[in-house]
Amino acid sequence: MLYEPEIETLPWSEQRRHDDPLYREQIRYLFAQSRFFCEKLKASGFETPESVGGLDEIGNLPLTEKDELRRSRSEADPIGSHLAAPLDDVVRIFSTSGTTGIPSYIPLTAGDLDNWIRTSCRSYGASGLVPRQRIVTTYNAGPFVAGAALDAFPRLGLCHIPVGTGNTERLLAAIKLLKPQVMACTPSYALHLAEIGQARGLNLQDSSFERIMVAGEPGGGEPAMREKLEDAWNAQVTEAMGIGDISVSLWGECEEQQGMHFSGRGFVHFELIDPDTGEQVPISNGARGELVLTHLRHRGAPLLRFRTRDHVVIWTEPCRCGRTAPRVRCIGRTDDMLIVRGVNVFPSAIREVVNRFAPAVGGVVSVRPSAKGVKQSPPLKVVVELAEDAAPSDDLRNRIENDIRATLVVTTAVHLVPPGTLPRSEYKSKLLDFSEAKEALGD
Ligand SMILES: [Zn+2]
Repeated sequence: MLYEPEIETLPWSEQRRHDDPLYREQIRYLFAQSRFFCEKLKASGFETPESVGGLDEIGNLPLTEKDELRRSRSEADPIGSHLAAPLDDVVRIFSTSGTTGIPSYIPLTAGDLDNWIRTSCRSYGASGLVPRQRIVTTYNAGPFVAGAALDAFPRLGLCHIPVGTGNTERLLAAIKLLKPQVMACTPSYALHLAEIGQARGLNLQDSSFERIMVAGEPGGGEPAMREKLEDAWNAQVTEAMGIGDISVSLWGECEEQQGMHFSGRGFVHFELIDPDTGEQVPISNGARGELVLTHLRHRGAPLLRFRTRDHVVIWTEPCRCGRTAPRVRCIGRTDDMLIVRGVNVFPSAIREVVNRFAPAVGGVVSVRPSAKGVKQSPPLKVVVELAEDAAPSDDLRNRIENDIRATLVVTTAVHLVPPGTLPRSEYKSKLLDFSEAKEALGD
């Protein structure tokens, strides 16, 4: 379903012409309302909104790191100095599920919230949701930005059945009794649930599900993981990706399953950068880089050139669904990246190679660095669960190690373990496990 066809099918080449005046207005707003960006831009030599110019010149502006926003928070300024709207105009404050000290708050005005819901409607509409379907969700979304995505379901005319996280029995009962056509969850949980169902002898392939929409972590786009989920549930799997500080469900995959379309047209501008140099990477078919996002008409706490730390590959060639916005797939997060003898490697990329060995392997993988921090010396330990009934063999282990080396140029030590050995998660999987790490390596 095209939720806003006139926007979603507009030729992509015309998008900048629409966005440029919005961007200039957003810059004027930031100079007038955002202490954080007013100071930051002036410190970089931009004294006035006019000196900043338009979207063609955005690459000249400084990037914004999450840590800078964090440092701008204090007890007197709990949201941070990037708060740009009077609190009286803020209708919702989300928190991020961050792991460090002071929570990070994300304030939205009524207009901001509506734009987020429209973005989510486009994103979930792309994944094939249609009115009157029932959708069961397993996110504990209350305090978190995913809550705004859930607001999209009634607007799309769906019946939403929230069961929350951590209650597999309630979920299985809802599936059995209410027969939802759609489930939304993390890919780890979809996999975990399939294992539970199979262990109990439930016939998941005959469940009412037509589609499973995954989000919250990379994985749902990895071909082997997707195939496994689709086989287990006999349902189409599509993924979505949001960025808490910018927008929920900013990217949503269509039924062609060739990556997630950009769904924030007119609300957000995206760029790709080289994560090492910070230089812009031209948007072209197959380009790779870190996503950098800029609000175009945000009021609560708009951000300029925000580094997402998500590394993506982008496709710009036309999609058969008719949506003209480019598509991405997340390759991994900077926060998870390891450097093994000078080579950058994402744990999710290792999992993707390992899962090519299905059905011998079960799909659950744990990367166990031996040193604290990013730098590692080879071989990198990788624990791989075997599938039910598969026997460990040196041959399989060698083939996996060779395939990882050939694909990712990284030497690993693969340990094959029986199914069910690694911990399961009802939320995000712990693909990278530092519990065996000793001292950090020196330079
Ligand atoms: Zn499409």
